[in-house]
Amino acid sequence: MKTSIATVSISGDFREKLAAIAAAGFDGIEIFEQDFIAFDGNPRDVGQMVRDHGLEITLFQPFRDFEGLPEPLRARAFARAEHKFDLMQELGTDLVLVCSSVHPQALGGIDRAADDLRELGERAAKRGLRVGFEALAWGRHINDHRDAWEVVRRADHPNVGIILDSFHTLGRDIDPDTIRRIPGDKIFFVQLADAPLIPMDLLYWSRHFRNMPGEGDLDVVGFLRAVVAAGYDGPLSLEIFNDQFRGGNPRLVAKDGHRSLIYLQDRLRREDPTLSPALPDLPPRAKVEAVEFIEFASSPAEATRLERVLTQLGFGVTGRHVTKEVTRWQQGDVNIVVNTEPEGYAHAAYAAHGTTVSDIGLRVADATAAKARALALGAESFAQATPEGQIAVPAIRGVGGSVIRLVDQGPVLGRLWEVEFTPVAAPGSGAGITRIDHLAQTMAYDEMLSWTLFYTSIFAAGKAPMVDVIDPDGVVRSQAIEGAGRGLVLTLNGAETHRTLAGRFVADTFGAAVQHIALASSDIFATAKVLANNGFELLVHSANYYDDLEARFGLEPAFIAQLQAANVMYDRDDLGEFFQIYSRSFGEGIFFEIVERRGGYAGYGAANAPFRIAAQRRAARAAGMPKR
Ligand code: MG
Ligand code: MG
Repeated sequence: MKTSIATVSISGDFREKLAAIAAAGFDGIEIFEQDFIAFDGNPRDVGQMVRDHGLEITLFQPFRDFEGLPEPLRARAFARAEHKFDLMQELGTDLVLVCSSVHPQALGGIDRAADDLRELGERAAKRGLRVGFEALAWGRHINDHRDAWEVVRRADHPNVGIILDSFHTLGRDIDPDTIRRIPGDKIFFVQLADAPLIPMDLLYWSRHFRNMPGEGDLDVVGFLRAVVAAGYDGPLSLEIFNDQFRGGNPRLVAKDGHRSLIYLQDRLRREDPTLSPALPDLPPRAKVEAVEFIEFASSPAEATRLERVLTQLGFGVTGRHVTKEVTRWQQGDVNIVVNTEPEGYAHAAYAAHGTTVSDIGLRVADATAAKARALALGAESFAQATPEGQIAVPAIRGVGGSVIRLVDQGPVLGRLWEVEFTPVAAPGSGAGITRIDHLAQTMAYDEMLSWTLFYTSIFAAGKAPMVDVIDPDGVVRSQAIEGAGRGLVLTLNGAETHRTLAGRFVADTFGAAVQHIALASSDIFATAKVLANNGFELLVHSANYYDDLEARFGLEPAFIAQLQAANVMYDRDDLGEFFQIYSRSFGEGIFFEIVERRGGYAGYGAANAPFRIAAQRRAARAAGMPKR
């Protein structure tokens, strides 16, 4: 179906908005009157400018406080409407949104409103224009699409229809299936928005907290299903009022918006492919079977430190790249690749961020299909020259300009290690590390929704409830992305201030992708013993932390002593227990975490974060490094 977005949804001046909307791939825009008024240009030029960007004007909005007024206000409302009609004709659009009145003198009465709309429809018809009536959730007399439909039905004019807005229906908990009673040709336009479920005043919620479909908690798929089942086949248009988006990068927000509309239609099509031929057909969300590898970009000098940490963690070199300065380290199912090439993409990543995770390799069933889906959802393709005899791995850009490589067990990609690496040694006995538990990606707070949508729309993954990580210098928001079967688990940490550890990391590394890598052990105390023998530099926690643990969970003193002796952090939820060991930071602030989950513990140790961060700061001070 055609995609559209209201200009009010993104930041910038009118020109910037148009450029961002066109670049994101939308078919059209709703012109929000205020954007137009603020722009220095006549309506004819504005209309031309929109069309020059390859966009159509799908709607002109809003026309407020129209219906149900007593004279002489009523006559004035019609005069205002005629003025808007003049403007619409010059702009080159035929549909105006009339939202239900909040005027204190509006009289109410379905028939009175219907009479007003019929007369407005008659006037619009003379100019070849159409009128769409929308129920605002806080409208004075009409605040429900069912009443708005009754007004439109009684107005009984071919140029008068209804405009539906998912927020106004779902935000008031009105069953979207009631839309199925409306004839499709009387639905003139559909606006879509999601929102997080936060109990608050409807108007305030709507004006500040709307977000892209899939980013919030409303059943926007259910809403769209009803709209499409009713026979609507016009544009799907985003009308998003969100303070963060209005202060954000217009190109990024527009791109997220387009992605959300494609993903929304994809979800509906997967439920029922027969519902509409206009729904886009893309490959299914890719299930990540495992993180196949993590690749670090470094320099020969800096890699020494990283390689020492890897050795202490129980990793061993098992392969060397056939042509590049790249080594493969292995333990359990974990592959870590260290790249110290003096040129190319990895070197550029090192130059930009310091020693950094430049690539994440994800194993999926069909890498080509996964990439095709990612591109259909607006991901950026990544390609590199592949030397003769080596394998071109399908890849896309991820967080902080890093690269996500997609590998599968197909005849070509399945031989990646054998083709590109010369075996050096068999994996050693290691330290009991079995797999990657999760990867922590750190980013500016205003990119979090964006990357959450990126991961959940491309991959078969869901989002856990957001938690606050309390850093002594500010709050960091943490959003876990959990893939089906836990093959891919990420914690996205959004830093609002540069003073927090996460914020400093973003600033110091110029937005590196991965801040820590959490490795799973099946016996944390056995692993701790090996690490101690290897001289692993771990993070040491205060005696106060362990005193508090004992009191908080009522743990046995002998168990507390065992935790403290090994510097293991502990947490518990209703399902099970969680154990964590942290490495010292290296490079620009990257670190490893080793975890053991017992029972079904579902979290990531957020309760321990303040103490872990305090310990990291102490360690940095002791090492004479700047406070981080
Ligand atoms: Mg609306
Ligand atoms: Mg972690």
